[in-house]
Amino acid sequence: MLGKILLLGLAVWLILTLLKQYRRSMDAPAPPHPESQDMVRCAACGVHLPKSESIEQDGKYYCCSEHSRHADQ
Ligand SMILES: [Zn+2]
Repeated sequence: MLGKILLLGLAVWLILTLLKQYRRSMDAPAPPHPESQDMVRCAACGVHLPKSESIEQDGKYYCCSEHSRHADQ
């Protein structure tokens, strides 16, 4: 009898644990991809790159200093 109760308790615990994990996975927002955030496009060649790696000039972004110089001309 005791064994059955233990088994039942274990089964309930297992179901609750699985439900909790399932709900957590449903509620959790998608992890932000650093690559997809703050992506900018080079105004000279059109390549996409992270904003932190880009060169901003006159409100435009460039992938390298060479392309930012091209825009001046
Ligand atoms: Zn470029």
